[in-house]
Amino acid sequence: MASTGLKYEKQPLYYGGKRQLTTSTFQTIDPSTDTPLADIFKADRSSIHAAISSAKSAFPSWSTTPPIERSRILLRAVALLRKHNDELAVIETHDTGKPFSETSTVDVVTGADVLEYYANLVAAGGLNGETTHLRPDAWIYTTKAPLGVCAGIGAWNYPIQIALWKSAPCLAAGNCMVYKPSEFTPLHALKLAEIYTEAGVPPGVFNVVHGAGDVGGMLTSHPSIAKVSFTGQVSTGCKVASAAAAGMKYVTMELGGKSPCIILPDADLENAVDGAMMANFFSSGQVCTNGTRVFVPQSLLRKFETRLLEKMGDVRAGDLMDPNTNFGPLVSKPHHEKVTRYIRHGIEQDGAKLLYGGAGKPKSVANSNGYWVQPTIFTNCTDSMLITREEIFGPVLCILPYHDTAPNWLDKLVDRANDTPMGLAAGVFTRDLDLGHRVVARLEAGITWVNTWGESPAEMSVGGWKMSGLGVENGRRGIEAWVRNKSTLVEMGGAVATSFSKL
Ligand code: NAD
Repeated sequence: MASTGLKYEKQPLYYGGKRQLTTSTFQTIDPSTDTPLADIFKADRSSIHAAISSAKSAFPSWSTTPPIERSRILLRAVALLRKHNDELAVIETHDTGKPFSETSTVDVVTGADVLEYYANLVAAGGLNGETTHLRPDAWIYTTKAPLGVCAGIGAWNYPIQIALWKSAPCLAAGNCMVYKPSEFTPLHALKLAEIYTEAGVPPGVFNVVHGAGDVGGMLTSHPSIAKVSFTGQVSTGCKVASAAAAGMKYVTMELGGKSPCIILPDADLENAVDGAMMANFFSSGQVCTNGTRVFVPQSLLRKFETRLLEKMGDVRAGDLMDPNTNFGPLVSKPHHEKVTRYIRHGIEQDGAKLLYGGAGKPKSVANSNGYWVQPTIFTNCTDSMLITREEIFGPVLCILPYHDTAPNWLDKLVDRANDTPMGLAAGVFTRDLDLGHRVVARLEAGITWVNTWGESPAEMSVGGWKMSGLGVENGRRGIEAWVRNKSTLVEMGGAVATSFSKL
């Protein structure tokens, strides 16, 4: 492919087991410097159709390949992902602006783990059904069948991880996928497709199309797509789910959140501060499960704020390849504008108290052209402020003090934590584990933590409640989103129980 003078070669689509070109391109930008990284070929209606056709052709053979054989192929892809971990992590760092210290230890690793998990699960009988002895001469058995050609549509914050969290159970269950990465972070997709091919995944089983919402829309509404697995904003998810519902397609919706991080009065201060920082500044706050509403008891407020401010020096913006850098820019110019708008709104309109940071760049990268914003802390926040109600998706921590001596203070606290249309994640910090479990049981969220924040291993099913989504990814329950079940009743008594016999 002709060199473009950019850091990466032109990025083709990928279907039928090979690279495919179209007639128009768009660019992906390095958010740390605001410079183009690569031209990306944009899918049009005919290339989307061709990608889906290649998946349809591959489906009969892939879906009937014994699970243990599919597993062997997918495990080879796991080994390749791990072998190329650092190379893939560099790509993710360039494309997303996340520090290499993160991408090399989290993004590829957690994606490969999920692929390994599902490859092993299906090899070990994870697609088996159940047998029920109904009566001595009748039994029922269930079987799980793959759905067909599925669409995966990704967000920009964990590109390769999202691609793997969708394609791993999809392919392991015997489906084929047409995957569309976010137009802001497309670089991982070709690499992943070529790794699958090198591992032995047959042509057409995993395909890539590039483009923005219009391409996602064409994919979602295509009659040959059986399921849409979507990760993105609530507002986009509503559109995608409606389009999918019109064709009665299966959906998984992994959407946004405004999650509460509850510090109880007896919490270990150090753990609470570490948890709140992880829940707000990891990946520069661009994590769907972020605990952006940090509820702190009045009795601990001053100590909590003091310790948090002491530790803010440990958030280090800088050269993204420096192993000591743990804070990067925001992913894109429009996202930077959105986050800084919220920070200004917090200061000027909401009247929250700015404890740290603000809308400018961190000092260490003040001369960079990239989309940097300071890690920011607001305190004295209230439930009605815009910054505590809407998902900002940036490094903005809001402290919401609560009275821990008033009557029914715990009930009021839980009510406040649940007072949001979203329900992705929630967490509680306490030394009293009984109380921790009791509070977690009352929180309206699909992903919860006690005395920690953010870990999401392959074994843990994750998915949102309320407006934060439908269905789950990962864990044993995650495979169910990629199969349909059939129940069969077998009669062995030698006669049909009929209502139509002679009187
Ligand atoms: P987004 O909704 O803007 O875009 C997500 C994807 O949808 C992109 O690939 C985009 O091109 C595509 N798209 C846009 N319009 C479409 C349409 N009409 N039909 C089909 N596809 C369309 O989201 P984003 O800004 O890329 O990602 C950030 C959001 O993702 C945040 O809200 C975050 O909370 C959420 N997120 C959720 C999870 C989770 O697991 N719950 C994980 C990561 C990110």
